[in-house]
Amino acid sequence: LKENNAKHMWHPMAHPADMRNNPPKMIRGAKGVEITDIDGHTTLDAVGGLWNANLGYSVDSIKQAINDQMNELPYYSAFRGTTNDKAVELSFELNDWFKPEGMTRAFFTSGGSDSVETCLRLARQYHKVRGEGERTKFISLKKGYHGTHFGGASVNGNANFRRNYEPMLAGCFQIAAPWTYRNPFGTDNAEEISNRCIAMLEDEIAFQGADTIAAMIMEPVLGAGGVIVPHKSFMPMVREVCDKHGILLIADEVITAFGRTGDVHGSRLWGVAPDMMCTAKAITNSYFPFGAAMMGEKVVDAFESNKDAVGNIGHGYTYSAHPVGCAAALATLAEIKKAKVWENAKARGIELQNGLAQLKEKHQIVGDTRGIGLMAAIELVDDRPTKTPASKPAIAAAFDAAYEAGVTIRVSGNNIILSPPLVISPEDVNRMIGALDKGLAAAASV
Ligand code: PMP
Repeated sequence: LKENNAKHMWHPMAHPADMRNNPPKMIRGAKGVEITDIDGHTTLDAVGGLWNANLGYSVDSIKQAINDQMNELPYYSAFRGTTNDKAVELSFELNDWFKPEGMTRAFFTSGGSDSVETCLRLARQYHKVRGEGERTKFISLKKGYHGTHFGGASVNGNANFRRNYEPMLAGCFQIAAPWTYRNPFGTDNAEEISNRCIAMLEDEIAFQGADTIAAMIMEPVLGAGGVIVPHKSFMPMVREVCDKHGILLIADEVITAFGRTGDVHGSRLWGVAPDMMCTAKAITNSYFPFGAAMMGEKVVDAFESNKDAVGNIGHGYTYSAHPVGCAAALATLAEIKKAKVWENAKARGIELQNGLAQLKEKHQIVGDTRGIGLMAAIELVDDRPTKTPASKPAIAAAFDAAYEAGVTIRVSGNNIILSPPLVISPEDVNRMIGALDKGLAAAASV
């Protein structure tokens, strides 16, 4: 197995040389909040699958729902002229989940990248049906991550994810992300940074021409780019700017929906109602590849009242509204609601941030710790004053030592990223801090 993994699987996020020296861990089993590799080594999964196994791996009701649906209706298309009962039930349920954000319609997808693509396409279509067809551009945040399809990658805030695929979608531009640790403004005052980013946004809109811009897409809390938590003023101000210029606001909630930030959704954390929301990941607790692009009244109304202009929509996937995915989502949402997992995420998140702050006191290699709810990052640096990123071998050593000590973490660039299941206990938080302590010591000794 190990040999074939290196030979026959494409691991695009691992450099071929890393693959030989440091092949991926091969996971064979999972139970509760733990995973076990083929050598029988069990670790606490501080990555939560990939921000998505929010309830852990032993949720019988979801497995049962998937099994029952497989027996009842394993698949039928929801494309032209047909749909399925579970899809309708789920759209009704989501209507309830997103009431405060005013999202009334769902379009079901197979994951986050599909949900993003759907919202970007709908944004252009929204303006076209309203006779504003020249509005085609997209704004996003540097450090934002929006998946790997061409549209999503075009609005990606990390140039490394675009470089190999140029030319990208025309008319996509980014403004600085509002974070205190690294920013172009020479201050660490979060509110001032938020204001400066908004000023930058206004400048860029004026430069591009407001009536050329279709939408702004942003994560309420930036995830894959290194867990950047904006000041609470930021997203409400983005909402105001978008409204002023007739620009749609798309919240990419692929990570933040359904509890991870300590609130039910990321937009709710900031009290903002976007025009569309992209969800995926935790919606089926990772057990089925699935997502939902949510649309607010404004967008729905534009389509409803301009039926002739809409014409052939030309958007849909073979697996849109897959009945097994819908059944998995219904069972997952029932569990999330029952356990109110966002409350545990908030409480454990505070403990986690306290633990990380202590690790920063102890280890010089830690430049910054940040996060909210159960999404957190530790940024490793060679030198605190210059913030020079720590070396790749140092970061790899942190991963290995933490794994050895019984916790799987995720490393990305010079960050350690933590996104454990939202059902972890205070003891699990201590276990994470203990293993990270060892990981950071190992990184410092490289
Ligand atoms: N948007 C965000 C905010 C994400 O974090 C991700 C995945 N990490 C995506 C979109 C893409 O989702 P997927 O990998 O399911 O296509």
